[in-house]
Amino acid sequence: PRKLLLVITPTYARPFQAFYLSRLAHTLKLVQPPLLWLVVDMQVQSLEAAALLRDTGIMYRHLVGRKKLSRTKDRGAYLRNVALAHIEEHRLDGIVYFADDHNVYSLELFEQLRRIKRFGTWPVGMLEHSKSRTTLYGPVCNESTVIGWHTNERNKMIRRFHVDISGFGFNSTILWDPQTWKRPIVKRNQHLYSIREGFQETTFIQQLVEDESQMEGLPSGCSKVMVWHLYVEAFEKNYPTSWRLEKNLNAI
Ligand code: UDP
Repeated sequence: PRKLLLVITPTYARPFQAFYLSRLAHTLKLVQPPLLWLVVDMQVQSLEAAALLRDTGIMYRHLVGRKKLSRTKDRGAYLRNVALAHIEEHRLDGIVYFADDHNVYSLELFEQLRRIKRFGTWPVGMLEHSKSRTTLYGPVCNESTVIGWHTNERNKMIRRFHVDISGFGFNSTILWDPQTWKRPIVKRNQHLYSIREGFQETTFIQQLVEDESQMEGLPSGCSKVMVWHLYVEAFEKNYPTSWRLEKNLNAI
């Protein structure tokens, strides 16, 4: 039987929410089942997200994170945490993948996810927001062995693993079965939350694996970009703030 994919997407109401979620739903609809899409909304289920999810025909759960958090970075991390707690509580046995709503995903990625035994990783193509520059972030591999990282000089010094949030997947049982995986149990408060910005991924991954030898680089040679992390929002300039849209477009 094919492995269950547990795809976690934190989301929040904003002008392009329906755009992002529709695009992602179309991709997920083309993935071979079984796949469970865990969409986590902030405070309340957004009506647009709920309507969209009902119509997709994808197996999903629409969860809500109720904590009020001021920092944007903490919010996404907190919502992912809510989904991880759900997976843990219901012992959902599958491959966990964090699919942020604004990324674009190839179908091959979802096939590769099913090859993961413990922890799989691959490079992500990124457009750096501040510098409008495209870069790769993630593993350099010799076949499936991770031998180095695409990163920059500064990050090289301070982070242990150079993996984007959408650049890895792992076996969910690591969360509650330390014996099989020979790891201490993953601590709840270390589930990507309340950790300094820029360190959430590496801190979380350090709980899942000892070092590179426990990672599987995908696909062989990590020679393909299977995820793109771009931004479609224009930089806001020269418009009166009252013209700005904050709510979903289909709610106006
Ligand atoms: N996100 C969220 N609430 C927020 C901010 C972000 O749910 O207040 C979600 C967002 O929809 C996306 C993920 O968290 O799925 C990452 O968003 P962020 O803008 O932090 O990502 P970056 O582009 O910086 O990686």
